[in-house]
Amino acid sequence: LFLTFEGIDGSGKSSQCKRLDEALRRAGYDVVLTREPGGSEGAEDIRRLVLEGDPAKWSAETEILLFTAARRDHMERTILPALAAGKVVICDRFADSTRMYQGMSRGDLRATVDQLHNLMIGREPDLTLLIDMDPATGLSRAKGRQGTEERFEDFGLGLQEKMRAGFLALAAEFPDRFRTVDGAQDIDAVAADVLQLAKAALA
Ligand code: C5P
Repeated sequence: LFLTFEGIDGSGKSSQCKRLDEALRRAGYDVVLTREPGGSEGAEDIRRLVLEGDPAKWSAETEILLFTAARRDHMERTILPALAAGKVVICDRFADSTRMYQGMSRGDLRATVDQLHNLMIGREPDLTLLIDMDPATGLSRAKGRQGTEERFEDFGLGLQEKMRAGFLALAAEFPDRFRTVDGAQDIDAVAADVLQLAKAALA
């Protein structure tokens, strides 16, 4: 099973990925927990280039190519081998993040993102859990976090609102694989919803 988590910055995706990883391991599943951008040696190198560099260094189109290059490497080296070995792959962000961030934040480039996806990736997750969250809460959580890779959060509240609406629209566009979880609940309640949805998909 290929399961991805999506949501705006600070929606709690990463903690929920870890919780689900632990819960599924306890239940006896062989799990690979990975993330994007990154998840393979080459893709982690691209992650550093893209997230730590000057955001204005590349055009929006070049940035899409870099994210897609990272994803291609991640697919080849990490995701597809794990799926072929029958493992559960949990991925913190995937192509839907590129459809949103690169596809919406610097102009309307969704068609470009989709074309490159079809050409170079060609696979969607079996299940995508959207952790839906009020942007103001998400932003304040994200800003409280440590780290040097947070340049995207400088987009601010306006973009977070746009991204939230965008993710909800994406969930409506792909109803077969998307499930939306209320991220405003306390962390244990979110984790319980997530586990229930994952187990239903594994059954
Ligand atoms: O998942 P996480 O919040 O750690 O992602 C790191 C940053 O990369 C985020 O700020 C997110 O907005 C950004 N990102 C992006 N495009 C992607 C994936 C992540 O802009 N395709």
